[in-house]
Amino acid sequence: MRTVHVLLCSESGELVGGGELSLLDLVTALVPSRFAPVVVCPGPGALVERLRAGGIPVEILPFPPWRSLRAIGVLRTLARLAALVKARRISLLHVNATGRVALCAGLVGRWRRVPVIWHVRVKEPEGWKDRLLARLATRIVVNSGAVAMRFTGSARAKVTLIHNGIDLRRFTPGPPSEELRRGLGLPAGVPVVGSVGRFVAYKGYAYLLEAARLVRQKIPEARWILVGDGELRGELEAQCRRLGLDGAVTFAGWRERVGDYLALFDLFVLPSLGEHFGRVLLEAMAMGKAVVATDAGGVPEIVRHGETGLLVPPADPEAMAAAVVSLLQDRALASRLGAAGRRRVESEFSLGRHVEAVEAVYASLLDAIGDRL
Ligand code: UDP
Repeated sequence: MRTVHVLLCSESGELVGGGELSLLDLVTALVPSRFAPVVVCPGPGALVERLRAGGIPVEILPFPPWRSLRAIGVLRTLARLAALVKARRISLLHVNATGRVALCAGLVGRWRRVPVIWHVRVKEPEGWKDRLLARLATRIVVNSGAVAMRFTGSARAKVTLIHNGIDLRRFTPGPPSEELRRGLGLPAGVPVVGSVGRFVAYKGYAYLLEAARLVRQKIPEARWILVGDGELRGELEAQCRRLGLDGAVTFAGWRERVGDYLALFDLFVLPSLGEHFGRVLLEAMAMGKAVVATDAGGVPEIVRHGETGLLVPPADPEAMAAAVVSLLQDRALASRLGAAGRRRVESEFSLGRHVEAVEAVYASLLDAIGDRL
């Protein structure tokens, strides 16, 4: 059996969010005897460092932005990418990006006659760009049914749904660290509600804070820990002060070891207005946490209402607060939902299952061009 060289293109060299973390998990877990990945990133950053630390070869190649698609810049990028495909004996291009990176990879795929997988993780359609990129792609992989809706007509026929998976060894139920608890100033026994994510508008954190205010009226001792960062952090902190939530909400900043924080939570809340997928839900469920999440985008594909958590309408702080209060007041129900969540992630969303599904797409594309594994 020969080793297949796969070139994966990333949108960013930084760890921007779940898309880059999913790419990192995938390349690290590809069966090394069958697949040899090389990753191309448009610039340096934490993703590049993590890949290199894991022994994955990385090439930095700047991609011209859509707006300045000047012929000379594009041709230079295309030539460098095509040279890489040749030099590294690449058999498959796997594009973990949209826009310019996907465009350049798609064109090079055509030029070098290498199949192109376009891995799409965002549900908002982009009109003519989607139609163009879909034509250039041999297969489109989406990470949720919500993202699949982005494609219609002939593009839809190319779509394969592969949900993300997570490494269950990194997210395992266990006792929280007392040191971390003390560091966050959490008194023993207080109920802790938490969330993890980027503080950008569509994640809906302003509604979570409204819900925290309502929960406080019923359970004054409840504490909230928000892990993550983003452009709205300052605004959210100001909102907390306005709502008198200063002592009740802690912004923990962006953390690499998210599992340590999840272990502290009695309940996990995701207030998204429209989630593409929501890796954080898998992580919280894998840690055995009951989840309160909005019924938006890909969320209901992960969270089963009444089975692994409670779904509430997006942008509805009253409903969110009622769900949080009900689970904080019924710990037996919360732990049943949490245990069911862990089982669901084990059976449906393991990294092993995800990688097998991606490898099956690789095999089918190679098979189609008569290049058997
Ligand atoms: N994350 C992290 N540290 C933080 C906040 C988030 O490592 O402080 C990770 C989180 O554990 C998850 C990812 O970022 O794996 C977010 O992925 P998700 O699909 O939930 O959202 P996205 O940011 O991709 O929209």
